[in-house]
Amino acid sequence: MDVLEEILHVIDNHNRFIISTHINPDGDAIGAQLGLYSFVQDLGKQVWVVNTDPVPAVYTFLPFADVISSKPPPDPFEILIVVDAGSLTRIGDGLSKALLPQKAIINIDHHLTNDRFGQYNWVDPKASASSELIYKLIKRHGLNIGQKRAICLYTGIMTDTGSFRFSNTTPAAHRIAADLIAEGISVDEIFRFVYESLPESRIKLLGLVLSTLQISLDGKTAWIRVTQNMYADTGTTKEDTENFIDYVKSIDTVEIALFFVELKDGKTKVSFRSKNEFDVSKIAANFGGGGHQRAAGCTIEASVDETEKIVVANIQRELASFMRSGALKE
Ligand code: 5GP
Ligand code: MN
Repeated sequence: MDVLEEILHVIDNHNRFIISTHINPDGDAIGAQLGLYSFVQDLGKQVWVVNTDPVPAVYTFLPFADVISSKPPPDPFEILIVVDAGSLTRIGDGLSKALLPQKAIINIDHHLTNDRFGQYNWVDPKASASSELIYKLIKRHGLNIGQKRAICLYTGIMTDTGSFRFSNTTPAAHRIAADLIAEGISVDEIFRFVYESLPESRIKLLGLVLSTLQISLDGKTAWIRVTQNMYADTGTTKEDTENFIDYVKSIDTVEIALFFVELKDGKTKVSFRSKNEFDVSKIAANFGGGGHQRAAGCTIEASVDETEKIVVANIQRELASFMRSGALKE
């Protein structure tokens, strides 16, 4: 019995479930958990979806988005299913302590750095998105996907592959997307909801953030920052910075793009993106974070200025030795 089968067996044999995902959830996190929610519910089970953070405004169009709550139900539950999170604490410190299942934790994820925190761990770094895994789960069970679940799962795959442009855009991702489209979803409508429904304030914030651009002398590392003052000046929040880092990565000479995000508590969140073979999940792991080879993140207990110095110095050192090893052309 493979782990997928084991997980279906556990789902079949229990009745009360909570589904959670990582803090600051993205399209894949929300899409995967809502697709899974609807599947488990259609099996006649009781299921709650509990996240630390609310659904970002751009994803409120997703079917079932209104079931997501920040409060665990008062009654006991048997199984906790965590999707798209590399470790249990990624669902938030509070929730990771509060959500205690009577029976088991199921961990469904595609992050390379996943630490296998569940009793059942289905971790497939080759999967384009966690939503791809939920698609496979439903297919293996034999239940139909249906239009609503297709919207959720397609949105997850579309956003995690950068609209089918990133290196995780595999034949499987396209085949599954084709199958989801065949359920009768409107891809142009989904694209418009996610990428072309932005408030004006977000574009103003983008202007402020891009004006902080800095580039290393060799042109290979570039970074931007966002501060709490910028949010205040434009009436925005951290949620409005999604995809800003892509502009930095789009510079011709850049190998590594960084985004420094000043948090309310004075800490700094760092996002890493790599254009080629350099593995940024290792750099993020140096600072207690993780992620994928080409997209990773961490949070550092220091100001933006300090964090920028430390992280840029670390990247320069690691990139230099990576280039000496001949892995990246001058
Ligand atoms: P982003 O930069 O978009 O927040 O995250 C990029 C990738 O790195 C995502 O796949 C995300 O799950 C992972 N990631 C971001 N921040 C953290 C973190 O603090 N810890 C870990 N383990 N992974 C992170
Ligand atoms: Mn994902």
